[in-house]
Amino acid sequence: MAYSYDSENIFAKILRGEIPNRTVLETAHSLAFHDIRPQRPHHVLVIPKGAYVSYDHFAAEAPEAEIIDYTRTIGKVCRMLGVDLASGGAGFRLISNAGEHGVQEVPHLHMHILGGAGTGRMVNPPGT
Ligand code: AMP
Repeated sequence: MAYSYDSENIFAKILRGEIPNRTVLETAHSLAFHDIRPQRPHHVLVIPKGAYVSYDHFAAEAPEAEIIDYTRTIGKVCRMLGVDLASGGAGFRLISNAGEHGVQEVPHLHMHILGGAGTGRMVNPPGT
């Protein structure tokens, strides 16, 4: 079965400039911006500019240049936030939710970068 992408999702609108965002970093193929409801002192979302619904979609179909750009952008944002390990940062958590069981709210691939405070257990029991 093919992936289906809804071009009316909120991140597609951000990419088209139809709604504002607080940009952290923009590259040829990726955009990083602050999450509107931060869950930690640092909470940045990194999205590819291409129309991919989830990480598996991106990994299967994106050209290598986009995958490299996206991966490096995530690393650069970690460095910009000072949470990366090379500069002695206290670390971070990456989360990319997909589909129903992943509890994905916005159907455009995004990586959450969370840091600036402890992030707790990796997964909570369902319903909490
Ligand atoms: P997810 O459950 O992984 O799909 O999370 C979607 C994330 O997008 C949530 O953390 C929201 O707070 C965030 N979000 C929704 N709308 C916006 C927006 N307009 N600008 C920035 N972040 C947003």
